[in-house]
Amino acid sequence: NTFQSYNLSDDILRALEDLGYQQPTEVQSKVIPVALSGKDLVVKSQTGSGKTASFGIPLCEGVDWNENKPQALVLTPTRELAVQVKEDITNIGRFKRIKATAVFGKQPFHIQTLELKQKSHVVVGTPGRVLDHIQRGTLNLQRLKYLVIDEADEMLNMGFIDQVEAIINALPKDRITMLFSATLPEDVDKLSRKYMNEPEHIEI
Ligand code: AMP
Repeated sequence: NTFQSYNLSDDILRALEDLGYQQPTEVQSKVIPVALSGKDLVVKSQTGSGKTASFGIPLCEGVDWNENKPQALVLTPTRELAVQVKEDITNIGRFKRIKATAVFGKQPFHIQTLELKQKSHVVVGTPGRVLDHIQRGTLNLQRLKYLVIDEADEMLNMGFIDQVEAIINALPKDRITMLFSATLPEDVDKLSRKYMNEPEHIEI
């Protein structure tokens, strides 16, 4: 059970070593191989389990540095989590020079719009603001390959279902979707059945 056994590029392995990640956590050992194989995933797991890296590692591995439009979108319920996920992805993708951008409410649009105009491989954000950027034309997701719905139960508890569905409906259908949630209530299950392609279920 090592990161070396997952066929990750040297750039990613070096970053994990720098972060002091010596061994995959349980969620990472279950999620990373499946995510790298390109399957959709529903993961029931708590925060603190290493879940961010469990999607951050395959995302950073799969991103093509040369593509100018965002290839991955991570939806989070809160601004704090968006910033944290952005930092984790920046760290994991450091030697691949992966650029992650966080977008969330309560920060002026123009700052985020300027950042989105630069090359951004991964966009992390809260549903309301992500949808605003899509509708204003400041976030182009035509080249999206990965969608991650993080803390899905929290997101739906906060009333973001309409925004989440509107965002998903604006994305390319040919993509990999990963959903993470501490609990799997009916509305989360419904979301996964409606928008995911025969997801593999992992429970930690
Ligand atoms: P998370 O559940 O994603 O919030 O991660 C919880 C904490 O575990 C974070 O501080 C991570 O930096 C850390 N972490 C994640 N994966 C590993 C790993 N394989 N080895 C050691 N620490 C890790």
